[in-house]
Amino acid sequence: MKIKILHLYPDLLNLYGDKGNIECMRMRLVWRGIDAEVVKYTCEDTGFDLSDIDIVFVGGGSDREQKIVCHRLLEHKKDLQEYVENGGALVAVCGGYQLLGKYYKLEDETIEGLDILDIYTEQGKKRLIGNIVLKSDFIDQKIVGFENHGGRTYIGKHMPLGKVLYGYGNEEKSGAEGVIYKNVIATYLHGPLFPKNPQLCDYVLTAALKKKYPDFTELAPLDDSLENTANKYIVDRFKSD
Ligand code: GLN
Repeated sequence: MKIKILHLYPDLLNLYGDKGNIECMRMRLVWRGIDAEVVKYTCEDTGFDLSDIDIVFVGGGSDREQKIVCHRLLEHKKDLQEYVENGGALVAVCGGYQLLGKYYKLEDETIEGLDILDIYTEQGKKRLIGNIVLKSDFIDQKIVGFENHGGRTYIGKHMPLGKVLYGYGNEEKSGAEGVIYKNVIATYLHGPLFPKNPQLCDYVLTAALKKKYPDFTELAPLDDSLENTANKYIVDRFKSD
């Protein structure tokens, strides 16, 4: 078995080292004897082909970087929409999450999004920064992370990735964070999302493997004692119930 991961714009969208999530996905496959290949698409490249891609990852960046990326990504709007509708796995963090929506409205301009999710984002006054803890319906482990965004994302009828137990989330008020749609995971949680949340990482890997290999059932367990200790430490520190 083999999984091919496409990392979109590692040169521009890599705030807080979002690319560590790529390494985490790769190693959690390799440790189970599954081949993993990572291909990068940067601003220097002329186009990408999604036909043999199993997981797409797009990280977060500043508004300036997001604008550059957005113009380039719109060239692939239809391909990315089809990829998602056909069940392709896609993980988008912060700025990448905002770009999946209809638009991102800034004070003086509006950035057109990929319209993959029926959501939109508007810039707010203060930035929403800090640790965050979520409870999701589809994995047992609480999801922990760090958020830092000026945008408020309104997800309409979409299912959130999780309920906020501590922190701000999509727009501070609804108590929802991120979106889960088909095999898309979109979230404001930056940095080591997968290293700190091994169950979430395995959820994405399992989705990609099931799509590619219809007979695939489940991943072999790994010794996640260190990862689980890190996760629990944050849960206990910010949310003890
Ligand atoms: N530019 C976006 C915002 O501030 C995303 C920033 C980020 O990726 N941290 O809302």
